[in-house]
Amino acid sequence: MKFRLCMLSVLAVLMLGASALFAQELGPGFHKIKEGIYTFAPDATTTTCSFVVTQEGVVMIDSCNSPLDSRRMAAAIKKVTDKPVVFLIDTETHSDHTANHFVFSPPATVISAEGAGAGMRKEYDPKRAETLAAKSPELREAVQGYKMIAPQIEYKDKMTINLGERTFELIYLKNVHSEADTAIWLPKERVLFAASAANVRRFINLRPSVAIPDVLASYKLMKSLNPEIVVTGHGPPTTTKVFDEYEGFYTLLLKRVGDMASQGKSLDEIKKELKMPEYADWHDQDRLGVNIDAAYKSVKK
Ligand SMILES: [Zn+2]
Repeated sequence: MKFRLCMLSVLAVLMLGASALFAQELGPGFHKIKEGIYTFAPDATTTTCSFVVTQEGVVMIDSCNSPLDSRRMAAAIKKVTDKPVVFLIDTETHSDHTANHFVFSPPATVISAEGAGAGMRKEYDPKRAETLAAKSPELREAVQGYKMIAPQIEYKDKMTINLGERTFELIYLKNVHSEADTAIWLPKERVLFAASAANVRRFINLRPSVAIPDVLASYKLMKSLNPEIVVTGHGPPTTTKVFDEYEGFYTLLLKRVGDMASQGKSLDEIKKELKMPEYADWHDQDRLGVNIDAAYKSVKK
């Protein structure tokens, strides 16, 4: 028994090593999380983009932050399969996830939750190509052909895509991050793409439309799916522990802001005094202020 266990762990290490090696070949930041499912998280905080290979073609999730990343992604897909990208699903509307649709569509059909196109048009920067091209010769090359591509399909509440042997369930998440957020659930593979309801050990830039109670409800919903692997909008692949961490963070934040507000402190005073030392090692500490704004709005309701 001991011997078998030992052999199994050796095998596990070898397999992990092999998958790391293979992902390494795709370039730094690529992870093979299951057979045919790859994520690209360039570092701890840069936008994650992913692809899933099916018998009928590739499904991409988000179009990567910089067009350079998108070109790396396109090259990685080509190394893995000669099938075309059929669908590109957005997990949110913000440009760090959506501005590089042009690299993949056409031929890909872009799919988002209802309201996504309007959100993207609001954020559209007509100088984007010019600004990026001025930064480096590589970027100038990568941004060639840039144009804004809004989603060709917007779904409401829920959508199921059956492509080849795989099923993708798109679930609209209300008020968690952008104008239109989507979680993507692969029930057979038990892989969940969780949008930016959570990231990995990072203060999230909570816009005024975000409601922390809705964010907490989204964690409950996503945990109830019982995923094995969770991929968030930013950061490397993880598990449902990420929802527990953020639940802990927001619960503590709401408690502290609530206590201070009930002592009669103003939002400005709370922002000056409140600290979250338990989370001192999270990225983007300068976003504590917008997190307090969102918490204050919730406790004052
Ligand atoms: Zn975002």
